[in-house]
Amino acid sequence: GKVLVTGGSGFIAAHVLNVLLSRGYTVVTTVRSAAKGNQILAAHSDATQGELSYVIVEDIAKSDAFDNAVKSNPPFDYVIHTASPFHHKFDDPVKDILEPAINGTTGILRAIKANAPGVKRVVITSSFAAVANADSPPAIYDASSWNPVTWEEAVTVRTKTYRASKTFAERAAWDFVDKEKPNFDLATVNPPLVYGPIAHHLDSLDKLNTSNQRIRDFIQGKCTKEMPPTGSFIFTDVRDLALAHVRAIEVPEAGGKRFLITAGHYSNKEIVEVMRKTHPELASRLPADPIDDFPKNVYGYDNSAARKVLGIEFRSLKECIDDTTASLLELGAYS
Ligand code: NDP
Repeated sequence: GKVLVTGGSGFIAAHVLNVLLSRGYTVVTTVRSAAKGNQILAAHSDATQGELSYVIVEDIAKSDAFDNAVKSNPPFDYVIHTASPFHHKFDDPVKDILEPAINGTTGILRAIKANAPGVKRVVITSSFAAVANADSPPAIYDASSWNPVTWEEAVTVRTKTYRASKTFAERAAWDFVDKEKPNFDLATVNPPLVYGPIAHHLDSLDKLNTSNQRIRDFIQGKCTKEMPPTGSFIFTDVRDLALAHVRAIEVPEAGGKRFLITAGHYSNKEIVEVMRKTHPELASRLPADPIDDFPKNVYGYDNSAARKVLGIEFRSLKECIDDTTASLLELGAYS
């Protein structure tokens, strides 16, 4: 099969590319520049199966951004859309976060419908951000849970902008499929904070993707005085999430479904405890007595569809954090 993966320069996408190539897919990925494309080819040069190439899409927010990228010969069978801004350092919430997330999603779906009739399934990297109701969590989160955030909050409350961008983008995708009845069906994968080893090109650790910054900061001793809040109390490993993306294109029954992709509960205190055990040389940099912010009445989660339909066996927090720490140390995080 042939797959288009958007945002190949990203943390998660690099692992998606690895899984696709190891399973023999022909893969084209979108990047913003030829320089980034060449770095990706170099980062995956040891792939023994599958073929990798790139196509330039400078800005996913532009309405015609994907019109040409979805055309290919032979044509694409599947599209995995991962590109979307994930950071909180924006100037303009609409231009910098909401538009690329929403227009990027509707734009690629429109382009596929118009120009890529061979595509059978589109998988979108959504998020637990589109699932979670931070103000009033249900007893158990599942595929029917939606973030109730409003546009007004999205543009005025900085901490809600990113989460709203994922919520509105995913809603727009399901609405598109509902109304347009396109040639493809849709599946979304909805992970909470994702940790894991780095497989993509990084200019420097200052440019590390948002979710792994917490582990980098622990390694660098930045949290000895004050522990950052855990935020969401469920996590997943990037390698399991990458496999979930690929299983979501492969498994027929995945069509039309939303998958909550999580390994389970955790807190920052547990991360610190794992790091102390697996990397005792870091002890002096870690908070000596980390605050436990794990709620007694924490919400539950239903990841049974990810396990049963997609066949994911989730890595433990220990394995995830051990490997993430080792990867960041290899990239020079300790110095
Ligand atoms: P990264 O920041 O590493 O990747 C984001 C990707 O999106 C990059 O390839 C980036 O390109 C691309 N991108 C962002 N904005 C634009 C734009 N305007 N035009 C073109 N490309 C753009 O983050 P992750 O790998 O973590 O995120 C990938 C996806 O996973 C996102 O959809 C994110 O919302 C989702 N997600 C991530 C979670 C996590 O904890 N990491 C949790 C839940 C969901 P460039 O490199 O050129 O900037």
